[in-house]
Amino acid sequence: MLKKKILNEKSKIKKPSAVEEVFSELKNKGLIDKNRTLIKCPISLNFQGLWLSINYNPVFENIKKEYARFVLLHEEGHIKRCSRTYLIIWIIIALVAFVFLLIYFLLNARPDIVNLSELINLLLLFLFLLLIIVLFLLKIFCPFMREDEFDADLWAATKLYSEYGVNEPHVLMKEALEEIRKLASSPPFHSFLQKIPFLRNLINFLRNLIKYHPPDEERIQYVKTYFDKRPKQAKKSR
Ligand SMILES: [Zn+2]
Repeated sequence: MLKKKILNEKSKIKKPSAVEEVFSELKNKGLIDKNRTLIKCPISLNFQGLWLSINYNPVFENIKKEYARFVLLHEEGHIKRCSRTYLIIWIIIALVAFVFLLIYFLLNARPDIVNLSELINLLLLFLFLLLIIVLFLLKIFCPFMREDEFDADLWAATKLYSEYGVNEPHVLMKEALEEIRKLASSPPFHSFLQKIPFLRNLINFLRNLIKYHPPDEERIQYVKTYFDKRPKQAKKSR
């Protein structure tokens, strides 16, 4: 009876996923900041390093550990290098906050001038203008955001080289990106987006409009070119 109870209790303790295990491993090695948290986020499209946390879609939780190392280090690379991508995100957040504060103060100062329909029109107008400004800013920052991707890849690749003895990180990177793309187009991932067609269409529209991410081949080639010039080292564990 007691044995059964212990077994039941044991089965209740969830085994950490591959991504969670690698995250702890990288933290223990000091490659990921000790204050960083890992968040499983069903609305996340991929992996995203967001200052205090790295968010990821659960569809990726059991990718091969080697691949998880690359993607987590890539995200940490973005955060560690204070990517300009973060600057643009903060500018956008500040803009949104500013617009809402402006509306709030306007309504407080002159409650008499606005009725409900005017308020809705005003809000829609502000949101439309905000969207235009945000898209404009993203377009301007596009080249910098592209460069950030190469920088984050290189940061991850140099850590894989120095800490894990991966002599050809571009090979591992190619496999990891292929796996991520495959899972991102897999049914569980899509079914979530397909539940909300508006969201799916909006994401596709914005993705096509901005397209700051360089193609995978370019990213792989960039890392390959860098490492082709480096001396090979004795292989540690991969
Ligand atoms: Zn990135």
